[in-house]
Amino acid sequence: MSRKKTPYKTYLAEEEVPRAWYNVRADMKTDHAPILHPGTLEPVTVADMQPIFCTELAKQELNVTDRFIEIPEQVRDFYLMYRPAPLVRAYYLEKLLDTPARIYYKYEGNNTSGSHKLNSAIAQAYYAKDQGLTGLTTETGAGQWGTAMSMACAYFDLDLKVYMVKVSFEQKPYRKTVMQTYGAEIIASPSDTTEVGRRLREQFPDSNGSLGTAISEAVEVAVSTEGCRYVLGSVLNQVLIHQSVIGLEAKAALEKLDEYPDIVIGCAGGGSNLGGLMAPFMADRLAGRQAPRFIAVEPASCPSLTRGRFAYDFCDTGQVTPLAKMYTLGNGFIPSANHAGGLRYHGMSPILSQLYHDGFLDEARSVEQSAVFEAAVRFARSEGTLPAPESAHAIRVAIDEALKCKESGEEKVILFGCTGNGYFDLMAYQQYNDGTMVDAIPTDTDLERGFKTIPSLAGIS
Ligand SMILES: *Cc1c(COP(=O)(O)O)cnc(C)c1O
Repeated sequence: MSRKKTPYKTYLAEEEVPRAWYNVRADMKTDHAPILHPGTLEPVTVADMQPIFCTELAKQELNVTDRFIEIPEQVRDFYLMYRPAPLVRAYYLEKLLDTPARIYYKYEGNNTSGSHKLNSAIAQAYYAKDQGLTGLTTETGAGQWGTAMSMACAYFDLDLKVYMVKVSFEQKPYRKTVMQTYGAEIIASPSDTTEVGRRLREQFPDSNGSLGTAISEAVEVAVSTEGCRYVLGSVLNQVLIHQSVIGLEAKAALEKLDEYPDIVIGCAGGGSNLGGLMAPFMADRLAGRQAPRFIAVEPASCPSLTRGRFAYDFCDTGQVTPLAKMYTLGNGFIPSANHAGGLRYHGMSPILSQLYHDGFLDEARSVEQSAVFEAAVRFARSEGTLPAPESAHAIRVAIDEALKCKESGEEKVILFGCTGNGYFDLMAYQQYNDGTMVDAIPTDTDLERGFKTIPSLAGIS
């Protein structure tokens, strides 16, 4: 079949930018196991979550019935400052690879925060403001989420305290500068500003910090401060709902081109961008219509889906958050330093975990850091965009799949999420260019150490 040559970039018109998010949970065959209260081990209720989250977001977290949730007008107005995001046909990468595959990517790096995280940050800030709150706390690893939240809080005039994983705080000074410019207060974690931070510093004086620890600190401050709540940039159901805007736009843009993907690929840290990108295609799959093959890509250094356990675990290292049934390496797993900071989380979205467990998310693949940067450089030199190291995980697998098509002669349509740009990751690129990058892969013994921190809950599996 001959197709008209598709444009390099396809944008929706402003009025076509979605007016509602899609909640895949309403269509799932098996819902994920309930989130449990850490004290009572009973399923959490909206009331349980209210001290931590804004009420509306707590409701979204538990929403299994509404397939579509209206995007508030003020959030959609903010979206229009940087959305629609382009759907790009990777002609130059295809040419470089000499593949018959048609490769498309949804590019989410065209905003100051540099990633897709702004899609949820602005929604979370909106609901906080709408409820009359005055401040928010959060954590950040690589810095993208903290930056996105800083922008969102500046827009809605909210105070923001960001607990930043210590190693990133030291390695990425310009991230701090961006967040401070938008008015946020940045604290290196573990810190002496919280009980949990002080305890961990005493136990592990040389700790470089972890996302899990920073979460514990941010939650502690939120629940003990009047008018303040906590926000999280991935993993949660509410975040996957907001990120569905990526997939809804991508699907609409592909429809304009009369295309449907055979393969959908996304990197997976906490699972939000992949969850968002694949959501409307997963709707097709769950309804028994046509469906792509879904592939999640994670770093070999933090392999939650490929080597983790499907079990109830805490979402944080301090064990103060609720328990979720998910693929996890154990809340005490501390991944070795890795440049794809946004993918260094011990757990995985409960929705994605359930879809993977049930075979709807077809495959998880782990890739090593040097292979990821090799792909990132090929992509940068051919397509022009300098990708975030996280995004380059998806690029790696997109390239591998396109090369398989070259072998077989199949003209598959490949769609992947290019979640961000790499301008704050130049130290990583420098190491790759200098040939000093190392691949750290945990041994089985390392993993066992993490698994031991998964709580054993009598009678609950
Ligand atoms: C945070 C981040 C990710 C990973 O997070 P998910 O919740 O798994 O999407 C991927 N890419 C970029 C650029 C990020 O900032």
